Amino acid sequence: MFSVAERFVSINGEAAHVGELAAFIRFRGCNLCCSYCDTRWANSPDAPAVDMTAGELTEWVLSTGVRNVTLTGGEPLLQPEIHTLTDALISRGIRVEIETNGSVSVEKLARRELRPVLTLDYKLPSSGMEQYMLTENYSFLGCHDTVKFVVGSHEDLERAARIIGRYKLAEKCHVYLSPVFGSIEPADIVDFMTEHSMNGVRIQLQLHKFIWEPERRGV
Ligand code: SF4
Repeated sequence: MFSVAERFVSINGEAAHVGELAAFIRFRGCNLCCSYCDTRWANSPDAPAVDMTAGELTEWVLSTGVRNVTLTGGEPLLQPEIHTLTDALISRGIRVEIETNGSVSVEKLARRELRPVLTLDYKLPSSGMEQYMLTENYSFLGCHDTVKFVVGSHEDLERAARIIGRYKLAEKCHVYLSPVFGSIEPADIVDFMTEHSMNGVRIQLQLHKFIWEPERRGV
């Protein structure tokens, strides 16, 4: 059984399939508490949620007619049976992407025959959560996966550059720098990328925050 805080169809606001339609399933609960979190309402253990089975969620996704699914949160990898859902969706021809906060091991999912695409955050200093990052996860990433750095300050940019270099991330997966909305100018990120010759790294703006009001849910 899965604790589902919300589900809806919208466009992918970030990562490799940005701009494409996706069915989103947001799970309740998170093990982190980032300074800039915009889904706090879904994170507490008693947040409103509906219990659904893997079969019910798969039927819902198929009923939407959308072929991309994004499993998000909160932290989706806290759902103990998440692999049963990814197996069920992928075996029905759905492309599954998991947005995880980078603090939970992806090893078991990454080794599955029916493997979802992984988008991992690296939580930078301004998040207050950097000490929980599990860098062992990077050895399980491939060319379809993404590491995303949500940047809120110049210190964050310096740290992101060090982590990208240390783990050679740009050589193994997609790498995105994404500004915390309202905290740092995207132009400053581009300047930093230019000054540091950050090849293989992309800036990415959270598309849905430009299309709808930044605080809007269910988009
Ligand atoms: S990991 Fe994501 S959901 Fe959890 S507190 Fe941080 S931003 Fe919010």
